[in-house]
Amino acid sequence: MLCCSLLRFEWGSPGMIEIRIGNGYDIHQLVGGRPLILGGVHIPHELGLLGHSDADVLTHAMMDAVLGALSLGDIGHYFPPTDPQWAGADSLKLLAQVHGLIQGRGWQIGNLDSVIVAERPKLKPHLNDMRDRISQVLKLQPDQVGIKATTNEKLGPVGREEGIAAYAVVLLQR
Ligand code: MG
Repeated sequence: MLCCSLLRFEWGSPGMIEIRIGNGYDIHQLVGGRPLILGGVHIPHELGLLGHSDADVLTHAMMDAVLGALSLGDIGHYFPPTDPQWAGADSLKLLAQVHGLIQGRGWQIGNLDSVIVAERPKLKPHLNDMRDRISQVLKLQPDQVGIKATTNEKLGPVGREEGIAAYAVVLLQR
């Protein structure tokens, strides 16, 4: 009986799919003289994000979500801002390395969802490009990668355009 067999399953039993969830958050300061890169996409704007790498706050939040799902620490552990080899680093390449870490443990991404919080510029025209870049790096279908954008309704440092923040959640399976 289907109902009874469903009720009898136990985690870890043969044939069961294991799942994990992870979440990530990041914020970077907006300054002059820096490019604005989000999800690997260069977005025209008079301000850019300050950071040791390319400061791609969306990709950083996604990496922390993936690492968190397997309790592997955070991106500061793997790519410390004190290490000159990561100066100006392309965060998509770092994301590929993080993806390799979980693949090496037999895990794959079920889906990823995220939100960027930015007062300006308008990000909607760039969201599909970001989704395409991220899904290519992670070898996912585009519909496995959610990227949304919202403002902070002029509230707080993000609302005052002092920075851009991003949140991400991921589901891993094996
Ligand atoms: Mg960061």
